[in-house]
Amino acid sequence: MEKQIFRIAIDGPAGAGKSTIARMAAGKLGFIYVDTGAMYRAIALFCLRQGILPKDEEAVSLAVKEAQITISHVGGEQRIMLNGEDVSGQIRTEEVGNTASTVSAYPAVRAHLLGLQRNLAAGASVIMDGRDIGTCVLPDAETKIFLTASPSVRAMRRFKELKEKGIMCNLQEIEQDIIERDQRDTSRAAAPLKQAEDAVLVDGSDMTIDQVVNAIMDAAISHGLKVK
Ligand code: C5P
Repeated sequence: MEKQIFRIAIDGPAGAGKSTIARMAAGKLGFIYVDTGAMYRAIALFCLRQGILPKDEEAVSLAVKEAQITISHVGGEQRIMLNGEDVSGQIRTEEVGNTASTVSAYPAVRAHLLGLQRNLAAGASVIMDGRDIGTCVLPDAETKIFLTASPSVRAMRRFKELKEKGIMCNLQEIEQDIIERDQRDTSRAAAPLKQAEDAVLVDGSDMTIDQVVNAIMDAAISHGLKVK
């Protein structure tokens, strides 16, 4: 029997829990998990290291050609390499996240990453999360999920996460940051964040992680995914 190839695209705003949920669902299904946000973050880190101003589209668009991004999977975990260096830990700062949100609006940056993202999904079952996976990267994915949660719920989750790491933070500032990031992601001209017409909307504001994972599995099964 031929192996079933199945692709699940998960899009949604920052802090909706996409990566936690996608990672868990991928683990349950034995799929490859691809975090596309990490790729934009790696480009952002490259620009910061080069001293390029994120607002300078021309300079960023030129520099991006020198940033070779590759992905490997170690024990089911995605590792992201920037010109051969594993930067998986270094891309998780607020500064890199905010820079990624700015530079991801540039068409040259998006074009640079699109081929890599599509290649990762070629011939393999994947769960890929991002902002434009269902609308642009994998428009024919078998299941598309638009995962959202209210800004205040997302801010509270991020606040707790940072506090657990011992990082000083302010809830109002985090919520403001989330609102601004949503605004940038949804209003940009190139591949803006929006729900694909055929995506299933999941509002995780009042759901547990397990409930969201189950909602995604149910959607995939209803779209023909065969689980053993
Ligand atoms: O998901 P994460 O917060 O790691 O993504 C960082 C930034 O990269 C986002 O704020 C978003 O602007 C951008 N991004 C994107 N398209 C994707 C994934 C992320 O524009 N597919």
